[in-house]
Amino acid sequence: MIPFLDLKKINKPYEIAFQEKLKSVLENGWYVLGKEVETFEKAFAGYCESKYCIGVGNGLDALVLIFKGCVELRKLQKGDEVIVPANTYIATILAILQADLIPILVEPRLETYNINPELIQEKITSKTKAILAVHLYGQLAEMKAINAIAEKHNLIVVEDCAQSHGVNSKFKSDKKLQFSDTALSGVEELLQASAYSFYPGKNLGCLGDGGAITTNDPELAKVLFSLRNYGSEKKYHNECIGVNSRLDELQAGFLNLKLPHLDSDNEKRRAIAKRYLSEIKNNKIVLPFWDFSNNHVFHLFVIRTENREKLQEYLIQNNIQTVIHYPIPPHQQKAFSQWNKLSFPITEKIHKEVLSLPISPVLTASEVDYVIEILNQY
Ligand SMILES: *Cc1c(COP(=O)(O)O)cnc(C)c1O
Repeated sequence: MIPFLDLKKINKPYEIAFQEKLKSVLENGWYVLGKEVETFEKAFAGYCESKYCIGVGNGLDALVLIFKGCVELRKLQKGDEVIVPANTYIATILAILQADLIPILVEPRLETYNINPELIQEKITSKTKAILAVHLYGQLAEMKAINAIAEKHNLIVVEDCAQSHGVNSKFKSDKKLQFSDTALSGVEELLQASAYSFYPGKNLGCLGDGGAITTNDPELAKVLFSLRNYGSEKKYHNECIGVNSRLDELQAGFLNLKLPHLDSDNEKRRAIAKRYLSEIKNNKIVLPFWDFSNNHVFHLFVIRTENREKLQEYLIQNNIQTVIHYPIPPHQQKAFSQWNKLSFPITEKIHKEVLSLPISPVLTASEVDYVIEILNQY
């Protein structure tokens, strides 16, 4: 069986280093917010070309805390509207709700699965205060267009990078890629922050839960360092109503070992994607769009097909495991009964037709050969 994602194999090369790290943390006797977290925050900020990195408990908390931080700074208030893609993973939307803000769902482009900037304008009201862009499946959203809209309407831009570690590291420093020429002048005033998850299956994953926020804004960073730790910067002095959501010291230690390999891991994912894109030839299968730039880290390789259950069953018969990301769109979830009557045709089509093929840095060339062969015989 070719597993969808072999986490054991991904972490195997680090086994001895992980054990040494555990030993060193044990010997240190400092288990929460210690040297490993500090080292990782510096390294990850550097990697993302951001001024600040704040380690937190998981990806969902990273998003929630960004919004709570903006509320604390009075840049947002309860009931403000946040633009978000309708086809995102549920956590993106939960974060907006947990910060007492209102998600406004916008359809994606069918080709890229990312939010369609052309549809944002019509959803903007006097209450719109932020755009939450998601780089879904690992592909950079259309940030130049999104930032131009944010500039025009003075909106906060938050990025959900839980599936896109490494995609914007090089991109962040290139303002020409991010902003339209007319918007370039006002770039410094845009409030921006990005949320990351280090859940084991992500492109950079630890051995449990973990997350981080990156931002260039010193005021937001200061509030976030405090919010994640009971609203306290100085022990027993509480400036705001915070939470307990800290990146675990041991997990940070593991991440310090894995971060240096992230770029080469992403390169391996792209190499597999290139092969799938050029060698899968079957008119029953729609392959994902990619411009062959580094703006995609292929967290997932997502195809579409009309009779998905049939294809998935055929692949299982042939010992290839696939996963659906995701089977039910957020607006049709029971948890969001207030949206169940809404219609988002593109989002609904995506959720009906998508199927994710195996892709990871440890998938071998012969496994890729086999997946391609079986798909071409379908
Ligand atoms: C995984 C994920 C999250 C949540 O991250 P957790 O660490 O699991 O809380 C948020 N958004 C997206 C797009 C994700 O894929």
